[in-house]
Amino acid sequence: MPNINIDGNSIEFKQGQTIIEAARNNGISIPHFCWHPKLSVSGNCRICLVEVEKMPKLVIACSTIASEGMVVHTKSEKVIAAQNAVMEFLLINHPLDCPICDEAGECKLQDYAYKYSVGESRFVDEKVHKGKRIKLGPRVMFDGERCISCSRCIRFCDEIAKEPQLTFVQRGDRVTIRTYPGEEMDNNYSMNTIDICPVGALTSIDFRFKARVWDMSSTDTICVGCSRGCNTEMWVRNNEILRLTPRKNESVNSYWMCDHGRLNTFKSVNTDDRINSPHIRKDGQLIKVNWDEAIAEAASRLKTFNKDQVAFLGSAFATNEDNFLAAKIAKNVIGTGNLDFMRHIDPGFADDILRTEDVTPNSAGAELAGIKPSKSGLDVEGIFKAVDDKKIKALYIIEDDPVKFNPELENVLAKLDLLIVHSTNFNQTTALADIVFSASSYAAKHGTFVNVDGMIQRIRPAIVSVDEDRALEGMSMSRLDKFGTKYDRWASGNRIDEYPTWKILTLLSKAMGYKMKYNMAEVVFAEMSSTIDAFKDINYDDIGEPGIKIKTELSKIVS
Ligand code: SF4
Ligand code: SF4
Repeated sequence: MPNINIDGNSIEFKQGQTIIEAARNNGISIPHFCWHPKLSVSGNCRICLVEVEKMPKLVIACSTIASEGMVVHTKSEKVIAAQNAVMEFLLINHPLDCPICDEAGECKLQDYAYKYSVGESRFVDEKVHKGKRIKLGPRVMFDGERCISCSRCIRFCDEIAKEPQLTFVQRGDRVTIRTYPGEEMDNNYSMNTIDICPVGALTSIDFRFKARVWDMSSTDTICVGCSRGCNTEMWVRNNEILRLTPRKNESVNSYWMCDHGRLNTFKSVNTDDRINSPHIRKDGQLIKVNWDEAIAEAASRLKTFNKDQVAFLGSAFATNEDNFLAAKIAKNVIGTGNLDFMRHIDPGFADDILRTEDVTPNSAGAELAGIKPSKSGLDVEGIFKAVDDKKIKALYIIEDDPVKFNPELENVLAKLDLLIVHSTNFNQTTALADIVFSASSYAAKHGTFVNVDGMIQRIRPAIVSVDEDRALEGMSMSRLDKFGTKYDRWASGNRIDEYPTWKILTLLSKAMGYKMKYNMAEVVFAEMSSTIDAFKDINYDDIGEPGIKIKTELSKIVS
């Protein structure tokens, strides 16, 4: 491989790489505003100027191709003077409104002002005023005075979202961003422009002024909006989720996520219809009860049915660990092969960027974890038909809402003698249930999902439930860190009295005389990795942040 020398370090680069790419690949940081690794090069911000020996002038590192023997200086006097000048130029018309700007705390301009500017302005005239609070589309607000005209947002719409909706208008210090006449920036990925805008010019209409970034904790997790499983950070203050942002993973979602996943997947965790404790139907009403009573009631009523009269529905919304234990209890404790889960397919949701037609996060994992009918058992359609024919009399559903997806099932499920549902929120199916268990949402539990390409990935708790409080009581902060949770467990927000589905199933199993010794999702996974070929030899900790590709081809498993 050819070599260049940057600041005295000889480094290798690939033919065709620019100086900034070669430097970055070798851990050398060159400042940049307009350059982004996934966008075309525009070369307009000039903060990446570097000195190259034998070249008469400074060059921009983002568009200068590295060549064998090149000697580059990124910290020479000339370079530092140029960086100071670029920062002074960019700050001439930039408002000093960091104290009220949503970007403060995660703003490149703010960071670079400390690092690369002299800290004083010589500009004494009136700054140029431009439009403020301009809605570019339904989800993104624009502040023209904060914009540094880097064009990242324009290039993102053109090149990644494939929806050219933004452009520059005017010239010189009057230049600003606009949507094309008659257009809005309403593409499915519009909010990624907020993440890549290096200043606070683009802000989220949903998140504006809700919190300062330093008041929130963030936890690495996975979007549950479709089977892509985009990697995300979940941002929480006082036990309330306030926003999701994408987390880079080149094997899954690169730097991006869609607006639906960002806005619509976590809201149900914060709503008033959350189920706070188990419920049993008494005199036609669902009544709040404690865990012991609900578990005992479920166990004693399930025992009254012949095994062929009972069916289980696992869930593509639940984790592998939840589904694994649902399959185990169906087969080993009840003895039924009537076991399946609902597929939720929406071809209209898919695109050729990230979104998939499967609008659940874990249908591949549910099947791998054992949610499928036995040879003589009924699949999901057979189960509903048998319920309608009154052959199946007891149905156990984890983390799904069949009536929402098929309203005709309301009359069918009403024929059951016993309907037990695990759910995070009251819904159309819990409205028919005899026993409802309050299940932890994906934001409050550990577990794994398998995405559309066979990547096994981990979710982690970002908010605290009563159960987490109980489990973590007295645990040191270093032990908490090992759990991978960064939440503030003393935060004042509400706690829900819930358990993860896998744990509810262990309690039920014990009450039915079949002890299951799992005290953590990790322990359930350990058994899966020793018994299921696709998970063979995968260690829970090794899944880490980027995930691991499972060894089995999904097309051979997922029907
Ligand atoms: S709005 Fe942000 S991303 Fe777009 S040109 Fe201005 S500074 Fe760059
Ligand atoms: S593409 Fe799917 S997984 Fe990714 S953010 Fe959108 S809904 Fe979530």
